[in-house]
Amino acid sequence: MKLFRFDGGRIGIERDGSAFDITDALGIDINAWPPVQTVQLIADFDHRIPSIEKHAKTRPIDLAQVRLEVPIAWPNKLLAYPVNYVKHGLEMKSKNRADLNGFFLKANSSLSGPNDPIVLPDLPGREIHHECELGIVIGKGGKNISRADAYDHVFGYACLIDMVVRGNEERVMRKSYDTFCPFGPWIVTADEVPDPANLQARLWVNDELRQNANTRDLIVDIPEMIEIASRVATLYPGDIIATGTPEGVGPVQRGDRVRIAIDHVGEMTLDVQ
Ligand code: MN
Repeated sequence: MKLFRFDGGRIGIERDGSAFDITDALGIDINAWPPVQTVQLIADFDHRIPSIEKHAKTRPIDLAQVRLEVPIAWPNKLLAYPVNYVKHGLEMKSKNRADLNGFFLKANSSLSGPNDPIVLPDLPGREIHHECELGIVIGKGGKNISRADAYDHVFGYACLIDMVVRGNEERVMRKSYDTFCPFGPWIVTADEVPDPANLQARLWVNDELRQNANTRDLIVDIPEMIEIASRVATLYPGDIIATGTPEGVGPVQRGDRVRIAIDHVGEMTLDVQ
């Protein structure tokens, strides 16, 4: 199943090629603030599936006719792993490694949707890079989650771009500008991803393929990311973990178009402004 937000905070699902608006079945106030509606749904998903499925067929929608929005607007946490592919460490001439340095945080407010532009801050002379990553969405929360149990805590996956200003300021600041975390175009539930440890992820800038790598080459793999993170901080439903990027990062400029595609997950194209 795909879970998505659209047209001003409405919530939809897609299964077997058919999409449905489930907002009314969920009794959701799309204008409520903070916009935690999908986080609440993910927390209670298993209980709500029957009513969702029953209602779903009465509200078909055409995905091509709606405007998709960021599927999780207000998570408890947006975690990210730094250098998590050997070749990216080499290209950056970095001594950082995800297995040595652990995770960092991006501001939750950097999240943006599949139809939102990436808005570059006005920083003359500075390089602003794309990082193609897989986004892992936590379903069942927990503390001290073991590697063996980790996949039981995954709700699903989405494409994620970890935008960053290169330089010496604190990493959290350089990665936390508004729109610096395009995420979407939807969340694919874990049951529809046959092998998360074998997903090809690609990123293009203006049709030039810049990044092309497989999650099998992650230094810290998905279960270990969850184990490491949950040893420090309780994970909550809707939390997002960015896996780290492979080699091929590079600068973007205003007017560029950035496309990310991940097998079994989806793709999205973003304008850079
Ligand atoms: Mn990154």
